[in-house]
Amino acid sequence: MVLWRPGLATDDDGMNYISTRGGAPRVGFTEALLAGLAPDGGLYMPESWPRVSDADIASFAGRPYAEVAADIFGRFVGDDITPQTLRRLCAEAYATFDHAAVTPLIQLSPGEFLLELFRGPTLAFKDVAMQILSRLYEHALATRARTLTIVCATSGDTGGAAVEAFKGRANVRIVALFPEGRISEVQRRFMTTGARANARAVAVAGDFDDCQAIVKALFNDHAFSREVDLSGVNSINIARIIAQSVYYFTAAAALGAPARSVRFCVPTGNFGDAYAGYAARRMGLSISAITAAVNSNDIVARALTTGRYERGAACATQSPAMDIQVASNFERLYFECAGRDSDLTAAAFEDFAATGAIDIPHNILAGMRETLTGVAVTEDETSLAMARVLADTGELIDPHTAVAVAGARACGAIQTAPLVILATAHAAKFPEAVNAATGATPSAPAGVGDRMTLPEVFDRLPADIDSIKAYVRAFVSEDA
Ligand SMILES: *Cc1c(COP(=O)(O)O)cnc(C)c1O
Repeated sequence: MVLWRPGLATDDDGMNYISTRGGAPRVGFTEALLAGLAPDGGLYMPESWPRVSDADIASFAGRPYAEVAADIFGRFVGDDITPQTLRRLCAEAYATFDHAAVTPLIQLSPGEFLLELFRGPTLAFKDVAMQILSRLYEHALATRARTLTIVCATSGDTGGAAVEAFKGRANVRIVALFPEGRISEVQRRFMTTGARANARAVAVAGDFDDCQAIVKALFNDHAFSREVDLSGVNSINIARIIAQSVYYFTAAAALGAPARSVRFCVPTGNFGDAYAGYAARRMGLSISAITAAVNSNDIVARALTTGRYERGAACATQSPAMDIQVASNFERLYFECAGRDSDLTAAAFEDFAATGAIDIPHNILAGMRETLTGVAVTEDETSLAMARVLADTGELIDPHTAVAVAGARACGAIQTAPLVILATAHAAKFPEAVNAATGATPSAPAGVGDRMTLPEVFDRLPADIDSIKAYVRAFVSEDA
């Protein structure tokens, strides 16, 4: 077994990771996994994308999801994990889902499909990545004497998925920061109920962007980061992007890839999920277009439409997991479309941190538009989409999925390429919004269980870096 060793970090077989900002040493898979954010403030990227051949893509049709996941991950881990171990970890991770297909496709209309990504333990697509991440962490940490501290910012679903996936795992503790009052009760209860000695949930007096900025500031304080052995599982973590690219492959293969190309429409907040589709395309999957659908927090749609990536004030919507104004993974797309020029990327995103805006150079914008279109969806359109899907198909969809269904109108007519809309959460996670739009109440699946009646445990803190640092230090010293 190859373990994470500072100073011996890169992988001889060439599967290494570099920072979008070019100021961090290249590292192997395990170090990129356990770090989350690169030490120069950039995001880790594989040095080059592995190429998945047409024959391999064709062979994914009908194969168990866990096997495809192990195949894709196998191309990214180098020598860090053996194929047998990867297969076992993937099999365990996806056995926690309640559908034999793990991420089933259901048909909405001719040529239009929903990809259900919410069949995991916390009823949102975050489980797809978090269930395998927690097992990869545990495997990598198995013989280390140290305990990592994961601090994650959540717009509602990441926190619950992370607490569920990491609870009780050895050598890791987790703190989930959520914006107080801005997530649904069901989302909150996945973080705040049940036994979880190594996990804490914190209601921060601010919005998601405040929570995410705090996490980034903790990483950028290198002394603090070393002191608590900080790690990150937000979609800044490249392993999440890899895990999420898998369902693009399985869905496209089921619909006829590589012979037939497929289009995707993705509800977008932090741009992780849509970026995973872009990554699958870079790996050779025949994706003809990806539409990033956003709610009124429309920074990504504005950037793709106007060429100006400019932060606005976050506003609360019925799709709270997308109430985000700084879409972290946009930096990865920028880096790629800038021909992997890390100086240009670093300058642009350091500027963005200072001024809140980037004017995307024409050639970079053109590169983004080759694959991506952005569309912003109003609250009314979101509600109408929930009502229309119920009337047309009998299915209840959640408000995030509804943003993508409404945004799909921007995808143009169904011709040869089928359209796959990512369904990112179970309707029962947002019963009030679903009921207001449709008059129907989604029934809670087994995953919700007795969470609605169990007592909640969480702390409250101001949106202040020093308060969060003190809180994390106290948690770390508890079991030191
Ligand atoms: C996180 C989340 C999204 C947005 O995904 P990003 O990767 O942040 O773009 C969409 N829908 C739901 C239900 C989510 O939890």
